[in-house]
Amino acid sequence: KIPVIAIDGPSASGKGTVAQLVARKLGFHYLDSGALYRLVALKTMQLNTDTQNPIAVAEIAIHLNVFFKDEHIYLDDTIVTNAIRTEQCGIVASQLAAYPQVRAALTERQRAFRQLPGLVTDGRDMGSVIFPDAVLKIYLTASAEVRAQRRYKQLIEKGMNANIADLLQDIQKRDERDSSRSIAPLQQGVDAKLLDTTSLTISQAQDAVLSWYNDMLAR
Ligand code: C5P
Repeated sequence: KIPVIAIDGPSASGKGTVAQLVARKLGFHYLDSGALYRLVALKTMQLNTDTQNPIAVAEIAIHLNVFFKDEHIYLDDTIVTNAIRTEQCGIVASQLAAYPQVRAALTERQRAFRQLPGLVTDGRDMGSVIFPDAVLKIYLTASAEVRAQRRYKQLIEKGMNANIADLLQDIQKRDERDSSRSIAPLQQGVDAKLLDTTSLTISQAQDAVLSWYNDMLAR
């Protein structure tokens, strides 16, 4: 069976960065599942589709023409790597992600990333819904304040505008929406290990994941 490491957690926790580093270290594939929800959000906005219409949005998700290559994400042959990172895209993504039809439309697309020699993936329901048989499940989190600071740094580095107070508010709102929805709510699974990175560096977080993985292999 192809091994999967599932890293779930709230917005801006650093799970994407850690997941990518672990994937590189192990030579595994990497799936940023949040990017798929953000891509659906971007396409929905581009087409002016009603975000309140789950069926229409699910239709977009089913036919999404997306391509991942190296560090870049292509939507209909246009690079949207930065375009999907805006706060607006994140907010709309979290609205659309609450529709069961949209989640169902993305399920197989996510599972297709499970390829040899293995996959590291991050999201909200990677360990609970998409890859319930993952060999290692982690719930990676950090305080909302630290997450707002990290997101701020990330946006500034990309040359985008940002404001910490607004980001903190967005993060809190998104946490609330992601954890209170009835389908695939954000929460630590009973079989997931807690990794609180509030006072950890990226490299310490990466080491923690790798050491859990090695322990698992040794068993
Ligand atoms: O992780 P990221 O912030 O990029 O995700 C954007 C939004 O997509 C989240 O707020 C969440 O609502 C949704 N999402 C999800 N399930 C996933 C990944 C992301 O519902 N596996």
